[in-house]
Amino acid sequence: MDLGIKGRRALVCASSKGLGRGCAEALAAAGVDLVLNARGVEALEQTAEAIRAEFGVMVTAIAADITTDEGRAAVLAGAGDIDILVTNAGGPPPGIWSDWGREDFIAALDANMLTPIALMTTLMPKMIDRGWGRVVNITSQSVKAPIPALGLSNAARTGLTGYVAGTARQVAPFGVIVNNMLPGIHATDRARSLDGGVAQQAEISLEEAKAQRVATIPARRYGTAEDFGAMCAFLCSEKAGFIVGQNILVDGGATNATL
Ligand code: NAP
Repeated sequence: MDLGIKGRRALVCASSKGLGRGCAEALAAAGVDLVLNARGVEALEQTAEAIRAEFGVMVTAIAADITTDEGRAAVLAGAGDIDILVTNAGGPPPGIWSDWGREDFIAALDANMLTPIALMTTLMPKMIDRGWGRVVNITSQSVKAPIPALGLSNAARTGLTGYVAGTARQVAPFGVIVNNMLPGIHATDRARSLDGGVAQQAEISLEEAKAQRVATIPARRYGTAEDFGAMCAFLCSEKAGFIVGQNILVDGGATNATL
């Protein structure tokens, strides 16, 4: 399928690895030029080079912490005109409700709610001027069904979801389409780290922890970055112009809900 976005320019945040990289690769496969971002320079440069070599698109790599004012300023200064924005950052640490104080919440809100809002606020006016834009925010299945150990994530991402619900409807008349993607468990470093925590707590092996989790997923496997990227590229495409303010689960059926 021709997604109709060849030659567009996308900023994909937190994209040297994992789900962000999956989105970047799928966009590159559709002919989209990329601005990639992550904190670590080495993995970022390797990913940028691999995407250039495989897809022949232009790739700019900007190493910065996207959750800080300075980091965002550096990324936005180097990004140029952006048609497609994919927001992403690392997720907050797991724990229990009694672990978390004000500073923990402020950090989670900064990373997973206020950062995507700041990026949208900065980049959407030019998308509106040009009459075309796409935004995908990577949130989590925890927005639909809470993951108790990820209370900081549940809180911050639900806040972002509420913001997007209204904002998406305010910018859609100008050709700017905003949606959220809700990953279930995908085989990335983040998943390995969460499984490691479960394994340690339950005194089982990493493989056992993973097998237990796979058993809860109707698709009976973890998702891949490619699974996730395919939906992201579609939501960023010309074809997705009538999908506004939605929360798309990519979770192998793990969230047991009718709607
Ligand atoms: P990952 O495999 O750990 O990859 C994270 C990527 O983001 C890396 O490229 C990392 O590079 C970059 N990054 C992290 N913090 C950053 C920051 N502050 N500024 C810029 N880049 C940053 O994670 P993932 O599994 O792809 O997860 C992506 C998001 O989806 C996270 O918020 C996660 O909580 C959420 N999520 C994931 C799953 C899952 O199963 N994987 C499920 C639900 C939700 P550097 O470390 O070099 O910066």
